Amino acid sequence: MITIQYAIIGGTGVYDSGVASIQKTVNTEYGKVEVDIAEVEGTSMVFLARHGKEHGIPPHLINYRANIKALQELGVQHIFATAAVGSLNPDYPTGSLVVLSDFMEMTKQRPLTFFEGGTDDVKHVNMDDPYCGNLRKHLLEAAKLHKIQFKGNAVYLCTEGPRFETEAEIRMMRKWGADVVGMTSVPEVVLAKELGMCYASVGFVVNMATGMESGPIQLESIGDMLARNKEKVNKMFLDIFSKTLDQQNCGCADSIVCL
Ligand SMILES: [Zn+2]
Repeated sequence: MITIQYAIIGGTGVYDSGVASIQKTVNTEYGKVEVDIAEVEGTSMVFLARHGKEHGIPPHLINYRANIKALQELGVQHIFATAAVGSLNPDYPTGSLVVLSDFMEMTKQRPLTFFEGGTDDVKHVNMDDPYCGNLRKHLLEAAKLHKIQFKGNAVYLCTEGPRFETEAEIRMMRKWGADVVGMTSVPEVVLAKELGMCYASVGFVVNMATGMESGPIQLESIGDMLARNKEKVNKMFLDIFSKTLDQQNCGCADSIVCL
């Protein structure tokens, strides 16, 4: 069995990496997952299209547990993800890139954990640093080198989707302290932590949230904006992976508390 330490999970429009790769199907207890495996400058990595390769799986129906389990079965310890987000923060306008630093959750019907009881101990996972602080540090350093401007850290609020939020909901979320809203980062970030993996995510602001601008949400410009940024960001991820990463400077590998 091959072991691949690094993975990139791409969201809307970010899974065409432009790197030669081979396809592989990973069978997990939660279902089959299609991944691409590529070698970039001697380092092997996995690419996973969160919504499926044809972008046909809506956020609330993504098999998050199969996706993360498949990465674990390949040996992955470090994951960079990208996520399209709507902005609630006027400092983070459409077209900005942000580093997700924390999250809140308003999902309703998706499986959220690998810990299902049974013969296992009751387990909880720490969320003091949900998006790995060590990977985020690497992101900020690499961004300078790659001339990528992050507008700042962002608190991500995850909704169930696929509908957008109402204006009243956005008013409430702003009061709570959310900066961006999206439909996919939870439970992805949680599941990675449950399996002891380091996970960090870059948010692509593709629209202002409902009520932040007059009129309905406009998505016409998403394609262009993502195309411009995805190549730069993926190159940055690959560059970070070409360095030796370990889990000595974070608590991700030791986040489980048993009762
Ligand atoms: Zn970590």
